[in-house]
Amino acid sequence: MVNKKRLVDEFIELVRIDSESLNEKNIADELEKKLKALGLDVWRDNAGEKFGGNAGNVMGRLKGNTNGEALLFAAHMDTVKPGNGVKPVVENDIIKSDGTTVLGGDDKSGIVAILEAIRVIEENNIKHGDIEVLFTFGEEIGLLGAKTVDTSKFRAKQGFALDSEDVSYIVYKAPAQNSIEFEIFGKESHAGVAPEKGISAIEIAADAINRMKLGRIDAETTANIGVIEGGRATNIVTGYVKMKGEARSHNLDKLERQTRSMIEAVWDAVERSKRYSGGELMIARSKETVSREYDRISVDKNELSARLAYRAVNEVGLKAQFVEMGGGSDANILNGKGIKMVILGTGMSNVHTKEEYIKIDDMVNITEVVLNIIKFAYA
Ligand SMILES: [Zn+2]
Repeated sequence: MVNKKRLVDEFIELVRIDSESLNEKNIADELEKKLKALGLDVWRDNAGEKFGGNAGNVMGRLKGNTNGEALLFAAHMDTVKPGNGVKPVVENDIIKSDGTTVLGGDDKSGIVAILEAIRVIEENNIKHGDIEVLFTFGEEIGLLGAKTVDTSKFRAKQGFALDSEDVSYIVYKAPAQNSIEFEIFGKESHAGVAPEKGISAIEIAADAINRMKLGRIDAETTANIGVIEGGRATNIVTGYVKMKGEARSHNLDKLERQTRSMIEAVWDAVERSKRYSGGELMIARSKETVSREYDRISVDKNELSARLAYRAVNEVGLKAQFVEMGGGSDANILNGKGIKMVILGTGMSNVHTKEEYIKIDDMVNITEVVLNIIKFAYA
C-alpha cells in the first residue's frame, strides 16, 4: 500500500531543499502546499523570527472520518550543517549524500513517512480520527520550534515524534536536563609582584570541579562541566571565570539533588578561598544560573501512544523494543507540554555527519508503522 517510488521521490525532493536551522522558509512553504493538497487544515506561526530565522512551525489537521483520540505526528524541518546543496545519491537500497554535506534524512525521513502514510489512508479510505501534524523549525539548535509552538491548538494528547535511528526502537524515556552556568569573581592582582593581594578564580573553579561528582552518577543521572573560560595573562591572578555545565536525570529529584551539589561545590570552594591579606579579609563571590533545558520523557508502556507504536512496529515484522534515550528532543518539550509522545526511528543513520545515509527499506517500514498506528487506533 505504501508507494515506495513516491516515497523515495518525495524524500529526494525534500532533501534537495536547503533548510539548515533558521532557514526553513522554503521547506515550510513546500510542506504547507503538500499538507493542503492532502486536505489538511494548515496553520503556521512565525516563531522563528524571534531567533533570527525566516520561518516558524508548520501545523495541520486532517479531520477525522470516525471517532477516536486525535493523534499527533511530529518531525523537524531543519538540518545541521553542512546541509546546503544536498545531492542525494541512490545506490542499491541506500540513499546517501555525495559526501560533501549531510543527507538531511534527519529529519526529512520522518516528514515523508508522515506525508506518505496520510496519502495512503486517503487513497484507501481507511478510517481515522483527527490526525494532526507538527513540523518544527530550529530543532537542531535548541528545540526552538517545540519550545515555542502553541500546543493548545492541537486536540491530540497522544503523539509520535519521528526522529530517531532504529525503526524497531520506541523511545519512551529520556532525561530532563538542567544547564548550569557559573560565574566566579575572584580578585585580580599582579602574579609576580603581589600574588597575595589576588584571589584566583581559576583556583576556585579547579577546587570546585575537583570536588564535584561528575560523569555517570547512577543509572538515571549524568553530569558534566563542559566549558570553562577565564584568564587574561600568565602574570595576572585571574579575577573572573565562567563555566558551563549540565546535569541530566530521568528522575527529577535526582536532577535537583545533582544540580544543587554542583552549585554547593562552587559555594564551598569560594568559602575555602577566603583569607586575610595585610589584615584585610579577601572574599571571592560566585553566581549561578540554572535553566531547565528540557523536560523528561516518561511515557508509561500502557499509554495509548506506546501501545500503538509497539503493536505497529511488530506488525511490520520488526521486534519492537522500548528504549531509553540520553538526549533531548522535540518530544521532551512536547511531553512537558502535556502530549504523551514517544519517539520512533526512521532508519536515518550516521546522522550529523557527511556519511549520513538511509536504507529505503527502513523508510518503507517506518511509513508502514505510521500507517499501522492510525489503522490500529481507530479499528
Ligand atoms: Zn533530528
